[in-house]
Amino acid sequence: MSQQQRSLVVLGAGVIGLTAAYLAATDEESSFKITVVARDMPEDMGSQGWASPWAGANWSPMPYGEEDARIARWEKQTFDKFWDMIPTGLVKLLPSSLYARRPETDSDGYARTLWWRDLVKNLHSIPADEIPKSCNIGLGFSTYSVNPSVYLPYLKQELVSRGVAFVKQHVRTIDELLPLTGPEGVLINASSLGSKSLIGVEDQNLFAIRGQTILVQCPGLDQFLQYEIEDHDAGEDATYIIPRPGGAPSDQVILGGVFQVGNWDTSVNMNTAKRIFDSCCKLAPILHSKETRVLSHNVGLRPARQGGPRVEAEWIGIPVTSTHSLLPWTALPENTPKKLLTVHVYGFGPGGYQNSWGACAEAISLLKQHIRQY
Ligand code: FAD
Repeated sequence: MSQQQRSLVVLGAGVIGLTAAYLAATDEESSFKITVVARDMPEDMGSQGWASPWAGANWSPMPYGEEDARIARWEKQTFDKFWDMIPTGLVKLLPSSLYARRPETDSDGYARTLWWRDLVKNLHSIPADEIPKSCNIGLGFSTYSVNPSVYLPYLKQELVSRGVAFVKQHVRTIDELLPLTGPEGVLINASSLGSKSLIGVEDQNLFAIRGQTILVQCPGLDQFLQYEIEDHDAGEDATYIIPRPGGAPSDQVILGGVFQVGNWDTSVNMNTAKRIFDSCCKLAPILHSKETRVLSHNVGLRPARQGGPRVEAEWIGIPVTSTHSLLPWTALPENTPKKLLTVHVYGFGPGGYQNSWGACAEAISLLKQHIRQY
């Protein structure tokens, strides 16, 4: 079959699904007929059924790049891509200060141990008398942030202008996508936590990491500030302040947060909110200003996965099988293929934005590689 007419269905319209669709739509070697299918779309910014609206969303230091060379590569590629987008106004350049307590070393020594020391820009030690008393490490660097309520609609608009179709649908089984893929179409599965129950995938390695934040308007707060916790997976309380570009009203800043592994509770805890606000005020006293306004209290679930993100090709046998044998199967269209080429790209936990361009480039490359062997 000519690659010119091949259908590509992207399941999921979070930052990962949209970025993957964008890379497929702009790929110079291929020409896909692309349809994005999702339950939550960039218009649904209040839905807690997906993660992307609730992100900070910036590059911040996390340990995963040290443990997984793929993540280090994806984060570097994504950092460079967002950095290049700063002149568009969609991405904000953030001067940053990271504070930590590591009594066994000093700021210079600590900086030398960091896997991300060459990833960020302008990494330097902060003078000891400018570091909060509770910490002994202070590092300055430059990073970036985006505003999900601006960035996701932007990606969708870019796709619509390139002829990509959007279908709002809750998909229970991969079979339901066959009328869209047709006999020789392919699938990118970017359904994040949805892949835990999606029949045909049912990835039981997925789990939620609950996050709670406060969105405020605070003119004059232009720095990313963070207390680094020692063990990211131990449920320690984090404190971070992330100014973001654009949006209405202007001067939006995210205050966070919590990192509660395995907690699926999407309700706001006001005791947590008070703890977040008080600890952020210690980092940035300007938050006490009369001009600061609370815009919303937020809870989102980070889509994490035992074993790390899944970026992998799979030939899914059709009709799909399930552990839920009582569920009825979808009526299959004529010319149904015996297997569907699927590239999974999900499970990015706390780093979906900061991995997005790199991980999705790898997903598209995997897709093209497998299509060539079709
Ligand atoms: P999602 O955004 O969850 O999107 C999944 C998509 O799949 C949605 O469209 C959904 O509707 C669709 N879907 C799922 N199941 C089905 C189904 N059965 N049928 C149809 N559609 C389906 N990341 C960063 O990089 N930087 C940060 O600063 C940052 N801060 C964060 C702070 C908080 C409080 C939280 C909660 C997250 C944060 N993250 C951050 C993580 C980031 O938000 C996620 O990693 C990222 O949004 C995941 O994107 P995704 O596209 O994989 O999944």
